[in-house]
Amino acid sequence: MKEELMRKVQLTDKEMPTQWYNIQADIADLPEYINPQTKKPITAEDLSPIFPPEIIKQEMSKERYIDIPEPVQDIYHTYRPTNLHRAYGLERLLGTPAKIFYKYEGGNATGSHKLNSAVPQAYYNKLAGITRLTTETGAGQWGSALSMACCHFGLECQVYMVKVSYNQKPFRRTFMQSFGASVDASPSPKTAFGRNVLATMPETNGTLGIAISEAVEDAVSRKDTNYALGSVLNHVGMHQTIIGLETQKQFEKIDMQPDVVIACVGGGSNFSGFAFPYLRDKIQGKSNVRVVAVESSACPTLTKGIYAYDYSDVGHMCPITKMYTLGSDFMPSGVHAGGLRYHGMNPIVSKLYHDGYIEAVAYGQLDTLKAGLFFAQAEGIVPAPESTHAIKAAIDEAEKCKEEGVSKTIVFCLSGNGYFDMYAYDALLKGELKDSTAPEIDTSKIKLPEIQL
Ligand SMILES: *Cc1c(COP(=O)(O)O)cnc(C)c1O
Repeated sequence: MKEELMRKVQLTDKEMPTQWYNIQADIADLPEYINPQTKKPITAEDLSPIFPPEIIKQEMSKERYIDIPEPVQDIYHTYRPTNLHRAYGLERLLGTPAKIFYKYEGGNATGSHKLNSAVPQAYYNKLAGITRLTTETGAGQWGSALSMACCHFGLECQVYMVKVSYNQKPFRRTFMQSFGASVDASPSPKTAFGRNVLATMPETNGTLGIAISEAVEDAVSRKDTNYALGSVLNHVGMHQTIIGLETQKQFEKIDMQPDVVIACVGGGSNFSGFAFPYLRDKIQGKSNVRVVAVESSACPTLTKGIYAYDYSDVGHMCPITKMYTLGSDFMPSGVHAGGLRYHGMNPIVSKLYHDGYIEAVAYGQLDTLKAGLFFAQAEGIVPAPESTHAIKAAIDEAEKCKEEGVSKTIVFCLSGNGYFDMYAYDALLKGELKDSTAPEIDTSKIKLPEIQL
């Protein structure tokens, strides 16, 4: 095929990687997790009321490569390997000499990359004899992914969905229910935490923090039930490395290497999955690829936060981790990219940013959704509002190439599609979309836990 007609690079089923990459093997002195009650380093026993043994092992593992179990590979094969696309349409519209590629993770039924971790999490819980999982969902992508994964392995799934999304996105709810999940608007009367919130703040629209507290309480109170988290933790990012490992194989196939690797960041899972294999090469001194994390300026954790030990949840039940944070009580304004509204960041992403391996930029939602619409018209995929942040950054890089008259190879992770988020595009098309407001951040006012190590 002529080079200019090579619109996508495919891998065969046999070429799908059979191991995940665990970057903890390549990073010395990674700070430990701290128990929020005892303020001592977390032990496996501390995590056992909510996670199965294999997940706990992976969370702290130093093994470089971890086998993907065959039943997980089997389900991965229903939608993987995913294609690496050459964005010719985008290049043409921009008139840039840059070569732009994107790895598309929105092609599965749940519409995002989150299925890559939902499947192994459901599998390892099934293996441990657990019959029911609980979780929270904000925008709905994670709840959808876990519902489908639980359905694959015959597990019950209980989703606490932030009330505002529950009301705004009825089809997300129906999607989860189609796979047999029970979905409740959070705060719900099902948990003591939820009842307490309902009694004291009956008008609340719910928050992700409240929904997490409900899901954890539910899991702790039942022996047959565990909890599953869709981002932030190390095992989640490791499961996602299937994305970057496939991407590297695809670039090898066409005998090219990216100069710039870009992904959006909320809790850090699609970024980790996409970029960690590239960062491995950078840490080992084999590559000087630029790696860019793109966040929402409504929740600018890396670009405006501080690097410190902080609570990972409002309820102060989950581990204290050393990370970039805006403070555990930080309340971002409501933006359409619901998946980018976390106050903290995965601890490994935080450390690599702190050590200078990663760059970060932040954009507001007017710019990013406009970039999303531009991309849709150029490439024929309506991107998730979260993913439009990566698109905006890629476009800016390509514009820079045009100004400087240089041709770089740019690749970004298209973490999901936006077909459940059309109301965001509807607002943009009607000219009613309000730009997100960047919060005033006074880092001296962030309340951190007191710990001595
Ligand atoms: C959840 C989500 C994100 C943000 O979460 P990360 O863990 O940072 O990847 C980004 N894109 C999509 C499509 C999502 O569903």
